[in-house]
Amino acid sequence: MKLDFDLFVIGAGSGGIATARRAAEYGAKVGIAEFDRLGGTCVNRGCVPKKLMVYSSHFPNLFEDAQGYGWSPVKSSLDWEKMIAVVNNEVTRLNGIYQKMLDNSKVELLEGYAKFVDAHTLVIGDRQVTADKILIAVGGHPVRPNILGIEHAITSDDIFHLKEQPKRMVILGGGYIGTEFACILNGMGTEVTQVIRGEKILRGFDEDIRDEVEQGMINHGVRILNKIQLIAIDKTAEGAKVILSQDDKAKEETVVTDAVSLAAVGRKPNTHNLGLENTKVKHRDGAIVVDKYSRTTEENIYAVGDCTNKINLTPVAINEGRAFADTVFGNKSRTMSYENVPSAVFSTPEAATVGMTEAEAREKYGDDVKIYRSRFRPMYYTLAGKDEKTLMKLVVNQKTDKVLGAHMVGDNSAEIIQGVAIAVKMGATKANFDATVGIHPTSAEEFVTMR
Ligand SMILES: Cc1cc2nc3c(=O)[nH]c(=O)nc-3n(C[C@H](O)[C@H](O)[C@H](O)COP(=O)(O)OP(=O)(O)OC[C@H]3O[C@@H](n4cnc5c(N)ncnc54)[C@H](O)[C@@H]3O)c2cc1C
Repeated sequence: MKLDFDLFVIGAGSGGIATARRAAEYGAKVGIAEFDRLGGTCVNRGCVPKKLMVYSSHFPNLFEDAQGYGWSPVKSSLDWEKMIAVVNNEVTRLNGIYQKMLDNSKVELLEGYAKFVDAHTLVIGDRQVTADKILIAVGGHPVRPNILGIEHAITSDDIFHLKEQPKRMVILGGGYIGTEFACILNGMGTEVTQVIRGEKILRGFDEDIRDEVEQGMINHGVRILNKIQLIAIDKTAEGAKVILSQDDKAKEETVVTDAVSLAAVGRKPNTHNLGLENTKVKHRDGAIVVDKYSRTTEENIYAVGDCTNKINLTPVAINEGRAFADTVFGNKSRTMSYENVPSAVFSTPEAATVGMTEAEAREKYGDDVKIYRSRFRPMYYTLAGKDEKTLMKLVVNQKTDKVLGAHMVGDNSAEIIQGVAIAVKMGATKANFDATVGIHPTSAEEFVTMR
C-alpha cells in the first residue's frame, strides 16, 4: 500500500522543523503537523523572546556605567507595553520565516493537533495521513504543582504577554528559567523575590558558579529565599498573598506581590493526549523512551527533543533530529553526542558552562583533579566604578592534563564558553590552553593564562 509520506513529523518546534527540512533535503516526502504557531517553545515562549527581554533589562546598567566614561546622566524609563509589543513582533516575523523555510524545503504543513490511530496512521483534525516513519517532536509544557490558590500564578509562557509591568513579583523555582526571569524583571525595575526549595539556585551547575551567580543577583537587588516551600496563594485586595514555609515548617512567611510566576518548577512532555496507546511507544512519566538513534519501542516511530526529557535545550533537539534524518534518510549513520554539551544561564551576572563540574570530576577522578580559578574585576567596570566580578574556572585531570570542564560567570560568558567548548569537545589539554596566545585586553584571555 502506498503511504502518504516517507516521514511525518508531529510538532513544528526546534527539533521537528530541523528534522523535516533535513529529511526533505535527502529527497524524502515530508509532512509536519502543528496546532500552534511555528517555531515551538524556543521561538514563541522560550529562548528568543526571553533573550530579547534579557537585552532590554541590561539598559539601566549601561546608562549608569556610561557616566563613568564621561557621558552625562541618561534619564530613561521602560515602556513595558512597547517592549512586549516589539518582542512579540519579532516572534511573529520569525514565525513567517519558519513558514518560508518549510515551503522552500517542500515540507507540507498540516495545521492541527496530531494523534496516533496506529503506528503508521495519524489523524489531524478531519484529515487522516499515513507515513512510513513518524517523528514525535512535541516538546513540553510548564507544570502547576497542586497547591491551594495555584490558579492565581502565571507561568513563564504568560510573562511574555503581561499587559503591565508588575511592581512586585514572586518567582517560584531556582532552575535556569526562574533565575533568568528573576534577573530580567529585576533589571527592568520590578521588585523580585525568588523562592527556591533548595539551598541555592541552579542545581546541577558547578558549586562556584551557583554561589557566584546567586551572590551577584543579590548584589543587583534580587531577594532570594532559600529552603522555602510554597504553601498557598491567596488573592487579596492588596495583591497576591504568597504563603511560604521553611523546610522544617517552623516558620511561615507571607509575601504580598502583584504577580506570582511558576517560571521554573518543572516541565512535562506533551505526550498525554497523543494516542500513544494505539502504538507500542513506551514512555516513563510522559517522557518517550528512545535508543541512541532516537528510535522508540515502536520500530518506525522516533522521538527527539524535550518530549524525551534528556537535555532540554534547542540545539540538542535540533542535533538529535538531524542525526536521525542523516541516519534514516541520508545513509550517514550517526548519533547525538551528549558529552560536553555547553549551556548558559542568561542571568545578571551571566553564566555558562561546558563539561564536568568540580564535584562530578572529583567523583570520577578523585585526587587527580586540579582546579584553576580566577576571579577579577573586568576592565570595563573600573571606570564604571562598579564592583562587578568575573569568575573563570577550569577543571583539569592532572594525570592526563585533559580539561574536563570550563565554567564562567560574568559578561559575555555564553559567547566565550561557546569557543572554549570546541576545545573541550576536542579533548584539549591544559598545555593546549597554555600554548594559546590570548587576545589582549579581554576577559577571555584569562582562560589561557590561568596558573
Ligand atoms: C522560558 C524558556 C526559556 C528557554 N531558553 C532556552 C535557551 O536560552 N536556550 C536553549 O537552548 N533552550 C532554551 N529553552 C528550551 C527550548 O525552548 C526547548 O528545549 C526546545 O524548544 C525543545 O524543542 P522541541 O522541538 O523538543 O519542542 P518545542 O520547541 O516545544 O516544539 C514542540 C512543538 O510541538 C507542537 N505540538 C505538541 N503536540 C502536538 C500535536 N499533538 N500535534 C501537533 N503539534 C504538536 C507544539 O505546539 C510545539 O510547537 C527554553 C525554554 C523555556 C520554556
